Amino acid sequence: MILVVVEYANGKVSKSTWEMITAAQDSAKDSGRDASITALVLGSNVAAIAAEVAKAVDQVLVADLPALTQYDPELWSAAVAQIATEGEASLVLIGGSRSGREYSPRVAIKLDAPLLEDVITLKAAGETLTAQRYTYLARVTETIEAAAPIAVVTIKPGVFNPATPKAESAEQFDVDLSLPTPRLKITDKTVERTSRVGLTEAEIVVSGGRGVGSAEGFTQYVEALADQLGAAVGATRAIVDAGWRPYSEQVGQTGKTVQPKTYIAIGISGAVQHLSGMNKSKTIVAINRDAEAPIFKIADYGIVGDVTQLIPAILTELKK
Ligand SMILES: Cc1cc2nc3c(=O)[nH]c(=O)nc-3n(C[C@H](O)[C@H](O)[C@H](O)COP(=O)(O)OP(=O)(O)OC[C@H]3O[C@@H](n4cnc5c(N)ncnc54)[C@H](O)[C@@H]3O)c2cc1C
Repeated sequence: MILVVVEYANGKVSKSTWEMITAAQDSAKDSGRDASITALVLGSNVAAIAAEVAKAVDQVLVADLPALTQYDPELWSAAVAQIATEGEASLVLIGGSRSGREYSPRVAIKLDAPLLEDVITLKAAGETLTAQRYTYLARVTETIEAAAPIAVVTIKPGVFNPATPKAESAEQFDVDLSLPTPRLKITDKTVERTSRVGLTEAEIVVSGGRGVGSAEGFTQYVEALADQLGAAVGATRAIVDAGWRPYSEQVGQTGKTVQPKTYIAIGISGAVQHLSGMNKSKTIVAINRDAEAPIFKIADYGIVGDVTQLIPAILTELKK
């Protein structure tokens, strides 16, 4: 059995979950292993999530418990390890999200299993798993192998095509868990209010750098263009550090990795640390007044010009 730990947000199954299901299907092809895919839903009041994911897998295991209302790495890892052991899973797939990256090593330790992180391809043959992942700021792709009866794998978001739901639904089963006593206490929560699509889920990302001039310039050019295109907003570290934008919008080595269909870089020089977070985008458009800016080396389309003149002109055309 392949166990996929379902990620969801705001009452909906996240894109990363559909991508993990595709990764599970890819790994199972010609593998000679038990290729049935089981989705595990952890949380409280998660019936709608379980019903949604049931359309793309062979079975759904649901742990709907008040104790799982808040994500807690100790509870999540205990639950996943228990279910993987009981179900004799050969593969445990976890999203490469912040939380997934946090609790996946704990699951691997509990299962005494190898951990393959942030993978972009996945194949199984007998007990051997072969995966690829980016390294050296995503300039090199390395191939890694693990030979073990069970392996834990985190899937890089935005790489695999999301699986398409079928008409029929898989059976759902409630599971009993023996969870440890929680040691983590949430004392406060800050909810970011945004009407925009999430950065790692978006098909179009409009990002701004120091070339937009100021926080006001960012609103005037980057946010305005993103709103017009129904896109998510991203930023470079330079302007996040300057306090123009929140850290949650930072794209790059120490920020988020995005892989949208279209990435529009406005007033961004193209430092390697920024490129490593967006250089796998399908189409890259760069706007910069310096024709020698490194961003143009990876851009599919480039406009050399001043942001203050180009963006208003583009917005006027789009509004027509
Ligand atoms: C360990 C480490 C980790 C890092 N992690 C990240 C990361 O995750 N993400 C990240 O982004 N950076 C990261 N950085 C920082 C990175 O090295 C760069 O400093 C940063 O990306 C530069 O941001 P920028 O492109 O906005 O600014 P700049 O490099 O200053 O570029 C501004 C660009 O705007 C252009 N411009 C200026 N005015 C205009 C105008 N009016 N019209 C058009 N174009 C204009 C300029 O020609 C220039 O190319 C990291 C650095 C280190 C050392």
